[in-house]
Parts: sequence; C-alpha cells; structure tokens
Amino acid sequence: MMNSEALFQRAREVIPGGVNSPVRAFQSVGGHPRFIQKAKGARIWDVEGNCYLDFVGSWGPMLLGHGDDRILQAVTEAAAGGLSFGAPTEREVLVAELMTRMVSDLEMVRMVNSGTEAVMSAIRLARGYTGRDKVIKFAGCYHGHSDGMLVKAGSGVMTAGVPDSLGVPAKVAGDTLTAIYNDLNSVEALLQGNKDQVAAVIVEPVAANMGVVPPAPGFLQGLRQLCDQHGALLIFDEVITGFRLARGGAQEYFGVRADLCTYGKIIGGGMPVGAYGGRKEIMNWISPAGQVYQAGTLSGNPVAMAAGLCQLSILAEDDSVYEKTARLGQQFTQGMNDLIQRHHAPLSVTGVGSLACLFFTPGPVTNYEEAKKSDTAAFARYFNGMLNRGFYFAPSQFEAIFLSAAHTEEDIQAVLEAADQLFTEIF
Ligand SMILES: *Cc1c(COP(=O)(O)O)cnc(C)c1O
Repeated sequence: MMNSEALFQRAREVIPGGVNSPVRAFQSVGGHPRFIQKAKGARIWDVEGNCYLDFVGSWGPMLLGHGDDRILQAVTEAAAGGLSFGAPTEREVLVAELMTRMVSDLEMVRMVNSGTEAVMSAIRLARGYTGRDKVIKFAGCYHGHSDGMLVKAGSGVMTAGVPDSLGVPAKVAGDTLTAIYNDLNSVEALLQGNKDQVAAVIVEPVAANMGVVPPAPGFLQGLRQLCDQHGALLIFDEVITGFRLARGGAQEYFGVRADLCTYGKIIGGGMPVGAYGGRKEIMNWISPAGQVYQAGTLSGNPVAMAAGLCQLSILAEDDSVYEKTARLGQQFTQGMNDLIQRHHAPLSVTGVGSLACLFFTPGPVTNYEEAKKSDTAAFARYFNGMLNRGFYFAPSQFEAIFLSAAHTEEDIQAVLEAADQLFTEIF
C-alpha cells in the first residue's frame, strides 16, 4: 500500500497540483494531503491506517456522519436498478416534493450536478426574468467557480492569495458588483449607482467560505427590503446552510424569504448534486417551460437522487439532528471562548448551529477584510498540531468547521483538550 506522501507525488504528475479541488492540496498549511481510505460516522482513516476525528464532513454533505447505513442501502438498491437513464424517474419527483415541503416558499426545484451549476443557473434565470445583467455579490462569499462568481470569492481563492482567476473575461467580471458583507450601505450604494440594472443580489445567508461569518441582526432583512425597492431578486446561496441550519435552511432560521435559493452538498448525501428553486412564477421561466435554457445529461441521476432522498427524508422526520448538532456547536464555541480567555490568545470564535470557525485574529470578524487579518501562519501551526493529535480540520483558515449528528459531546471535549495543550505551545 502506498502512503499519502508517495500517492501525492504520483498524483502531481497526472493531476494539476495533485488534487481535483484546490483546497485539498494543503498549500496554506504545509505538508502533504492525507489520502483517505474510508470513513464512518465522525471518523476518517487515511491510507496509512491513521484514524482522525473529522470536522470537514466532505465540506458539508455529511450532516448525518459518514457512511450512514440507511443511505448506503438506498444507494446500493438504486444502483442495482441502473446508473443513469437520461429520462425522468419517480425519485426526482419525490425529491422535489420533499424539498418543497421542507422549505416554505420553495414551490419548484430543478436538479443539477453541483453547487457551482446551481448558482450559475439561478443567476441566468434571474437575468432572464428581470431582463437585467448585473449581479451584486459580497466580498468573501463563494458561489462556485463560474466566471461571473470568481470575483472576491473567498476560501480557496483567498488562501491562494489570488483575488480573481486568469481566464475570466473582464467583460464578464464587470457585471459582478462587489459589496461588503454585513454592510447594507454598500449594497444600497451599488443599487443606486446601477439603477434598474441589477438582476439579483446573491448572498451566503451565513458566510461559510471566509471562515464562518454570521449575518448581523437585520442584515438579511435589509437585503430583502433593498431588493424589493430596486426590483432585484434576492438569491440565498444555501449550498452550505440549506437543510443544515434548519429543515427550511437559512430562510427558516432567520425568518427571511429569498426569491431564489441554491442548494448542493447536503441534498446529495455525498453524491454530486445541486439544485435551485423558488416560486413557480419565476421557475417556470426555465426551459422547457420557459425561455431560460438549462439542461444536464446526468441531472436527477437515480443513484444521487436515492442518496439525497434518503438523507432529506431522515432530516424531515428526525428533530434530534438539528437539536444535537446545534448543542454540539454551542459546546464548541463556548469551550473555545473559555480557552481563548484563559490563554489570552489573540483568537476569536464564531458559530451558527452546526457551523463554527476559530479565527486567528482577536476579531470581531464581520466581513472579508476582518477575516483576512487572521494570522494564517499561526493557523497552520494549530492545524498541523491538531492533525498530529488525530483531529482533521479543513486545511485553511477560511473554511468552516462542520459538525454532524455522528459527533458526540466527548468528541468536542477531546478537541477542546487538544486545543488547550496546543494553545500552551503556540501562545
Ligand atoms: C461549495 C459551495 C458552492 C459550490 O458547490 P460545488 O458543488 O463545489 O460546485 C457554492 N456555494 C457555496 C455557498 C458553497 O459553499
């Protein structure tokens, strides 16, 4: 059996940077990525056989923990019936019915294959529906890697220190206006300065790709009002928050209605799935019902739908998942806050429900500029110290800590004890 380091060397010969998504490369924390052999519950094992307590959860999908037996069975059964037909199936109807039941105001959904695709399609729909071209996003919010959204996009892009990407035409980026998270004045100024030109404001209702930055009280409500005043659609990118913060996602959690929502991660239960949805009146502009084109050979794939349907069905019925993960989130943020005070550590901690982040800056962190003040070298020392102690966190300061229903109070306690030791070494 090859070890992770040797596999990474081989990978770099045949895969750009040795990985199929940049943040996996460990570039900002040093060392080599761990190649994963398997995962179960809250734990993952690398090819060397080392076991880690996992706080990445595949970047969000694994709200129930890894390898949930019910989901594995649903996937196995679906696969036995055929992997793809390119024709409609009953499961697609069931998933759409379930999603629209769980999320109020969600009347129709279209399945796609990733969060990137969901956002790209929702923006095309917003433009088609409003007849306007410009879109407002927030610095530090990530909405996938479509051209127009690779502007001040947070996490992977941010860690690499590259504000934009090569290959994005200036003309395309020019239609993306960037506002400051938690700053309604910055949004209003853009809307005023581009009167009747803004198709949509897109936001992560909890920013979770610049670390975790919760919306300030009134921020999401304010966006709703501004969009109504200016005839722009409000798009919640719920690729992380959807079905995670609550059954109805951030819309339910914060009591704010969006015109369109995008989903991914959790709704595929670990399979590649995305979706976007909203009111019928808007969604019926999508082809073949309407004139906004969007298609997908593998969209609504039977195996992916089986995984998503199973995970969402569990979430629809089981209150304990949301209660438990929120309780663990609180235990983590409170415990970390205590440690920070006791060690006089220049850190701050944020959290909403099952999402949390330890920022290596005293904070408060309310936007991208403040998040960027983090001491990423100190984060790298902390990250590697944790990894060596058997705790697998995202290999970047600007990513979320994802808790799952498979984690326990003892698991959180173990993290806090390890952090206590590490803070003594670092500070
Ligand atoms: C992960 C993510 C995306 C992109 O989803 P992919 O499936 O990686 O394409 C979009 N928006 C948000 C908020 C995300 O966290």
